[in-house]
Amino acid sequence: MSTLAAAPAPQAGSARITSWRLLVNNRLATAGLVLLGTILLLTALAPILPLPDPNATAPADRLKPVLTAGHLLGTDQLGRDILSRLLWGTRVSVAVGFAATFIAAGIGSAIGIVAGYAGGRIDNAMMRGIDMLMAFPYILLALAIVAALGPGLMNALYAIALVNIPFFARNVRGVTLGYAHREFVDAARLSGKGHLSIILTEVLPNVMPVIVITMSTTAGWMILETAGLSFLGLGAQPPQADLGSMLGEGRAQIFTAPHVSIVPGVMIFLIVISLNVLGDGIRDVLDPRLRSGALARPGPVTEVARDRTAPASTADDAVLVIEKLETGFRQGGEFIPAVRGVSLHVKPGKCLGLIGESGSGKSVTALSVMGLVASPPGVIRNGAVYVGNEDVLSMPETRLIAKRGSRVAYVFQDPLTTLHPMVAIGRQVEESIAAHQSISAADCRKKAIELLEKVGIPDARARSVHYPHQLSGGQRQRVGIAMALANDPEIIIADEPTTALDVTVQARILELLRDLQRERGMALLFITHDFGIVSEFCDRVAVMKDGEIVETGETRQVLADPQHAYTKRLIACVPELGTGARFLDRVATLFAEDKKEVA
Ligand code: ADP
Ligand code: MG
Repeated sequence: MSTLAAAPAPQAGSARITSWRLLVNNRLATAGLVLLGTILLLTALAPILPLPDPNATAPADRLKPVLTAGHLLGTDQLGRDILSRLLWGTRVSVAVGFAATFIAAGIGSAIGIVAGYAGGRIDNAMMRGIDMLMAFPYILLALAIVAALGPGLMNALYAIALVNIPFFARNVRGVTLGYAHREFVDAARLSGKGHLSIILTEVLPNVMPVIVITMSTTAGWMILETAGLSFLGLGAQPPQADLGSMLGEGRAQIFTAPHVSIVPGVMIFLIVISLNVLGDGIRDVLDPRLRSGALARPGPVTEVARDRTAPASTADDAVLVIEKLETGFRQGGEFIPAVRGVSLHVKPGKCLGLIGESGSGKSVTALSVMGLVASPPGVIRNGAVYVGNEDVLSMPETRLIAKRGSRVAYVFQDPLTTLHPMVAIGRQVEESIAAHQSISAADCRKKAIELLEKVGIPDARARSVHYPHQLSGGQRQRVGIAMALANDPEIIIADEPTTALDVTVQARILELLRDLQRERGMALLFITHDFGIVSEFCDRVAVMKDGEIVETGETRQVLADPQHAYTKRLIACVPELGTGARFLDRVATLFAEDKKEVA
């Protein structure tokens, strides 16, 4: 027990560091961060740097080139120092751009959250208003606003903030809609919390990442828009410098003194590009799916370490042999094993139960068989998997993929997440058939309906056009089994296929699996955490704890004489009818003994 309790602690601690480390690991984002930091630091220091007055004209020094003594970046058409104007101008542009971002984010997100949370008529009214704002080309709208309010930096800021409100409102409303009716929000409502408090404590923290992501990706854009309005003479007014007005003023000298417009142009480019790569980096870090490893989509097959040791198969007459399998996950450059030295085998027509508590590594073992552990971060470090005497892990990718579903099929725990919600169940079964067999569409359809009948879907032909949400949990799992049977596999790996179902349905699904397995002579690797099921159902059993097999043998023998304390505990957890309170006493005693052992 001590290892179990200690294991999660360092992970929880490192999770917070990894957000920062992940951002720094992303080289582009780091470059953006450093560049942006340098620019912001320089502009912040503008008042104390030994710079000439940005607005002091000197007609005698007009259009001096770059690197003139006293004028590092030269002078403009009025003899003003470009470096000084650049730093002061960047200050203005960045301040206006960021201020507009915060205003747009604040107002837009508030509208989005209220609309998404309230729903119905309020949502409708608010969103139609936002739609109207979006229907105008935004730069035209900004121009119209500035024209109405009069040119000037503050008015440009309002205009840009206003035209960007819809982006925040739309994004945030979409996410809020997803949360507004989740169970934890309902629970908060039942506990008597008011609307404002629910919005602030339940909804806002969940939509915050979206707001931050939208801000980081639109800030650069808003700086660009500020520059655009100033370029057109509607933002900063002379003699005040900002990047857009400097660009606009330099336009007349573009051929005679190109540096006057190139310098602010390059600065705009640097700010926007650094904000964009940094924004992308922040988005990747805030997305928990991208946090666990590299910033990449999982490959089609689990990564296998090059220097893997592949022990030979020790059970020749088995259809599936796993030898000393070691699978784990890469987290921030470290390899964290989830399964260590697991060896099992299943003979044709037999059922092996793999039992262990949640998190013991059963699913990782099962998924490793066909290279289905997502990589990154998953890695198979050592060991071998033999399907019909062939090492699966050294097969070429295409060959391994061809074996999925045809020789080894899976049935997963939650059929609602494994079935496609938008495709009729008949079509989904047809797809599994068509993936491995080239038969005519009519035959395929016939076979799909036969399969659905076989797994006990009543009135299969009529039912085949139904969608997963129109079926009960048990029926959905039957469809999952039909898909697994589609290509007459030799091995079925069922990963807790009945855990999501209620007890009576569970019994029927188990019966179905057993009958089909016997009838077709398939091997079955049955994963569960319930010894009751194993004792009725499996010929042999392997007990798994903390990623290792602690005991294996004939089910009857293990039941009669369990060797490992953990096995005893799992067996004790199966209640018997009529034992009542004595059952709980028995479990409690075993747990107490276990604690003593550790101490
Ligand atoms: P179970 O026995 O309940 O099926 P699993 O095989 O799913 O357990 O998980 C075994 C261990 O592997 C757990 O400690 C889990 O935290 C870890 N694990 C599973 N998937 C991932 C992943 N994608 N990234 C990191 N760790 C994982
Ligand atoms: Mg599992």
